Amino acid sequence: MTRRALVAGNWKMNLDRERATALARGILEGSSGDGAEIAVFPPFVYLDAVGRVLESSPIAWGGQNMHFATSGAFTGEISGPMLTDLGARYVIVGHSERRHVFGESAELVGRKVAAAFEAGLVPVLCVGETIEQRRAGETRQVVFDQLAQGVAGITPEQAEKLVVAYEPVWAIGTGETATPEQAQEVHADLRGWLTERYSRETAARIRIQYGGSVKPSNAAELLAQDDIDGALVGGASLEVESFLAIVAAAR
Ligand code: PEP
Repeated sequence: MTRRALVAGNWKMNLDRERATALARGILEGSSGDGAEIAVFPPFVYLDAVGRVLESSPIAWGGQNMHFATSGAFTGEISGPMLTDLGARYVIVGHSERRHVFGESAELVGRKVAAAFEAGLVPVLCVGETIEQRRAGETRQVVFDQLAQGVAGITPEQAEKLVVAYEPVWAIGTGETATPEQAQEVHADLRGWLTERYSRETAARIRIQYGGSVKPSNAAELLAQDDIDGALVGGASLEVESFLAIVAAAR
């Protein structure tokens, strides 16, 4: 089964309105439409403007986070239906900055994954270990637990559409990347877990992205691994050239 790679740009809390729309336009103009699927994740306040640039194009856009409720007294939060209202196809859930800086629990992340599907979005569920956990030999246990709690509230049919992003916390924004072998090992473990939980067919359909200091110089080797189905890119997604070089490496 061949999975179409997904290369996604997580713009985090960067750019302004003009630079965000210019970046979207540059990606649109520089991409061919075939090869890897492309998605961008602008800050919430620029989603509408970016969506207007990308509408009717094959490039998808999504939210960097969402609340599990559809509406209510949750000051400062954004719901899944609000994202779909803006044409979003994807939403990042459980990014390590949400887990470690904002204290989101694996259980909360699982509620968001279920709510994302409910709203018609495809969640990009991030999992990954800290350097201490890796050194203690706990990587598999940590990512399996995050995955188990992440998918706890979804159906097998929904699981087929899920995107998982393996992002070792020690590699995010640090310039340090997992070696292709280190990444492939965890990706294969994750696919093995998904096979046991669902079936070989379902696990073969689920895309597992790698994230953590992916750049043009290391993308091709990482993306050539059997179980790496694209990249979730932070820093290098903020420039048209470096992002499109990573997209090209995913062919
Ligand atoms: C990320 O934020 O998901 C990420 C992988 O960031 P960077 O590429 O900057 O390490």
